[in-house]
Amino acid sequence: MKLTPQERSLHEQFSTYGKNAKEWLRKCALLLPEIDRRQIWKKRGCGSIYEYAAKVAGMSKHSVDEALWVVRKIETQPELVKLFERKGLRAVRPFVSLLTPETVSFWAEKGTILPTRSLETYSKNYREELTRARKSEPEKPAKEKITLDLSPELARKFQQLAKRADFESIVNRIIQEVEKHDAAEKPQAISTPSRHIPAEMDRYVRARTNDLCAFPGCTKHGTSLHHTQRWALENVHDPDRLHLLCTAHERIAHNGLIENEDQSPEKWRLKAEADPLEPKTAIDRLVGLYRQK
Ligand SMILES: [Zn+2]
Repeated sequence: MKLTPQERSLHEQFSTYGKNAKEWLRKCALLLPEIDRRQIWKKRGCGSIYEYAAKVAGMSKHSVDEALWVVRKIETQPELVKLFERKGLRAVRPFVSLLTPETVSFWAEKGTILPTRSLETYSKNYREELTRARKSEPEKPAKEKITLDLSPELARKFQQLAKRADFESIVNRIIQEVEKHDAAEKPQAISTPSRHIPAEMDRYVRARTNDLCAFPGCTKHGTSLHHTQRWALENVHDPDRLHLLCTAHERIAHNGLIENEDQSPEKWRLKAEADPLEPKTAIDRLVGLYRQK
């Protein structure tokens, strides 16, 4: 809805003050651990750091707890302090528990380039990959446990089936059948100057993950069809290289942070850095610039 000039001015003032207030609160948060260490709150006649922060800066107990926890972990790292000052708690919080002395610059960069939601997702996936890597380190167990949502009847049948010695080969046969069926249904890749993805291909790609994000382990709703080869480079819509992604994973992809992106999603992993020599990286940069506008 359109604002009148007076309303616009009110809104602009409010936005400016709000932006400044946030910035000052971030500065407050950064001082809290030192204030707590020196027990300045006690010397000022307060019963706790919470009472002190509420009285002096209007901070809630929750934001004091969060600030203390996060700032204590980053306060000796100037790069991260700077990131905190610039983008606030939410640009640091997702990865503080993953932080090691070796990964400070790595995370400072991710916190800078990724929007908050994507940073949260990236950190979550990073943690999962770390856990997986740790588990398989000692003697590389060849099996992985998964959980499935099945109807009770099917679940029991499946459990029985899983007892069979040839269970894996049975599952493999089922997968091959599905792949064969999919291949028959699969629309042809097309080369076209139009960005528009043909409806049939759109449906086919969405159906492949039942409208969910294709990133391994992600159960979020997919929001956009992503060309893993970047449409701008080839002008091709290819169902094998077109995948439905949630907003966070789409941003992660466009920051060049998915390893094996050209292969099928089960082979995707997080990547530490975008490859500067990949032509895709240049396209992604342009997309990034366009989005900042
Ligand atoms: Zn996702």
